[in-house]
Amino acid sequence: MKNIIFIAPPAAGKGTISDYLVENYNYVHLSTGDLLRTEVSLGTLLGKEIDELITKGKLVSDDLIISLVNNELTKLNGRLFILDGFPRTLGQAHKLDQMLASLGVTNNVVIYLDIDVEEASKRALGRVICPNCKRSYHLYNEGFKPLNDNLCDDCNTVLEKRSDDTEVTFKNRFLSYLTNTGPVIDYYKKQNRLVKISINDKSITDVIKEVIKVASEYSTSSKEAEFRLKSGGSND
Ligand code: ADP
Repeated sequence: MKNIIFIAPPAAGKGTISDYLVENYNYVHLSTGDLLRTEVSLGTLLGKEIDELITKGKLVSDDLIISLVNNELTKLNGRLFILDGFPRTLGQAHKLDQMLASLGVTNNVVIYLDIDVEEASKRALGRVICPNCKRSYHLYNEGFKPLNDNLCDDCNTVLEKRSDDTEVTFKNRFLSYLTNTGPVIDYYKKQNRLVKISINDKSITDVIKEVIKVASEYSTSSKEAEFRLKSGGSND
């Protein structure tokens, strides 16, 4: 299996897919959103600043997020990982290539989950999460409702709505995705490093199957090697 770098609009379902891969394939799930929400829950000064940005649907600074991710990557010691929510800007994508190269990690695949804005918005507005174990549920989707009212199936904690899963903030997050993450998609596409999975009308089971297939079968194509040669061996 390969390390997975997920690129997707907000609320596409990266967290749900990641939960499955953690349980069944021993992946470590690195979600920048979860890392930031943990800092917020500590109530530190930094946490308060982050909370304000998240609630408005704005991005935190590249410097902060890069240092958080770098810290997590250096702790992995060769374990398989999923990057969920990073890179979200071109600067982060460049930096990620440098970090992975300096750690000697080459076993990676970038998976782009393509979903319409209407469908993603529905998913965001119906989402509730467990503040303790981070599992997410969907109130309007039969397969993803909690078994007991508003309690987490795994740890019995009262589920919460995320402060940024409102109609207005979702719009901002989606706009930010188009502006900031659009160029990241082009960056990987140009290098033939992007595997696209369209997920609009697919069940979560089918999407997970496709992700597993890609993560187990993906190999660096000759086209990617060709791109590297043409661009002088650099990914920047
Ligand atoms: P979603 O994928 O549903 O938008 P996340 O949990 O990944 O949500 O992120 C929540 C929020 O955390 C983002 O809207 C943003 O404010 C902040 N955030 C997460 N990852 C990054 C990142 N790589 N760069 C900047 N801000 C980030």
